[in-house]
Amino acid sequence: MKSGIRQEAQRLLDSTGLRRTGPRLAVLGVLFEAGRPITHEQITAKLAEAAPNKVTIYRVLESLVEADIVHKAFLRDRAQHFELANRCTASQCHPHFTCTSCETTYCFADVALPMTKSPMGFTVLHQRVQLEGLCPNCSEKTG
Ligand SMILES: [Zn+2]
Ligand SMILES: [Zn+2]
Ligand SMILES: [Zn+2]
Repeated sequence: MKSGIRQEAQRLLDSTGLRRTGPRLAVLGVLFEAGRPITHEQITAKLAEAAPNKVTIYRVLESLVEADIVHKAFLRDRAQHFELANRCTASQCHPHFTCTSCETTYCFADVALPMTKSPMGFTVLHQRVQLEGLCPNCSEKTG
């Protein structure tokens, strides 16, 4: 892990009151490096050398989600995709855009959507929006 990323991971962990453990720092490091939502499988594959096992990684992810520094970004083919919450606000996750042609998902990290106006009696606490369409590459192909 690059030392800058390690420091960032430590800083994030410290902000939660969770203890610094090797597996927590390793998982955060992978999420920092990925910069986009990735699955438990993909995280496990990237940590193959460091070798915390799958169950440990799963528990680490749950604790980081609980501490709200990692978000469950979206579910795809029954696989939950995780990412750092550092580009989200308390009330809103940045939208994710999935290209229906190449099936790539993009973070629209700089796009803030207006909060949904909820019907009488409902309170929206958090907004998480999924967008679908064509990415620039696929738009070109279809003319
Ligand atoms: Zn989020
Ligand atoms: Zn595409
Ligand atoms: Zn994202």
